[in-house]
Amino acid sequence: MDAALEQSRRGGHLWIFGAEPLLASECRIYVYNLALRLGIPVKGGGLKEGIEVFPRQDRLEDGELGNAIRAPIGVHRKTNRRYWFYEAEPTPEAQFAYLDGLKKLTESELRTFIEGMSLPEAYRPVVAAPYIPTVSSTQFPEFRILDYVRTTRKDSRNWWAKCPSCAGVGRDRSGDNLAIQIKNPRFYKCWAGCTKEEIRAALGQPIHTRAAV
Ligand SMILES: [Zn+2]
Repeated sequence: MDAALEQSRRGGHLWIFGAEPLLASECRIYVYNLALRLGIPVKGGGLKEGIEVFPRQDRLEDGELGNAIRAPIGVHRKTNRRYWFYEAEPTPEAQFAYLDGLKKLTESELRTFIEGMSLPEAYRPVVAAPYIPTVSSTQFPEFRILDYVRTTRKDSRNWWAKCPSCAGVGRDRSGDNLAIQIKNPRFYKCWAGCTKEEIRAALGQPIHTRAAV
């Protein structure tokens, strides 16, 4: 495999170029395992110092952004200058010619390299698994919204799910109108404006109002 070493603001960047789009998760498995096998410390996983690996995430959800990085031969936003690859003359023409001549990594090669490997334990992201209801509880008299909806994502405060009432009329295709407070899942809200009564009715769990005395 060819890799290209580029100067940077602090130290350098070692690039591996793909012949086609490659899965971040698979690139990360390769780079982490290779670095650790060579005894190169990788930042994270308990280490404060070491190389940094990009991309930093295995995957992104719709609408999420990964970490920004200056692209090869791009101008650094902080220093307002370019950094060159060591192996070619410091002109854009020579640099591009050098990059064009490098062998690019294909997906099938990458898959051969990582066969049987996974991301080293210490570097696996700590993510709470989404709450998936198994059976609706009959032994608990209290209504629990999380027993009835499958969450699609999570942020610092809320689980997000398809609003059952919206879904009933063909809305909420993206499945995130319903916010359910993580701290106290008894609180939930449809951002399209469905009422609690409508949501409960859509789930076949209408709110029983006490008969007036
Ligand atoms: Zn709704």
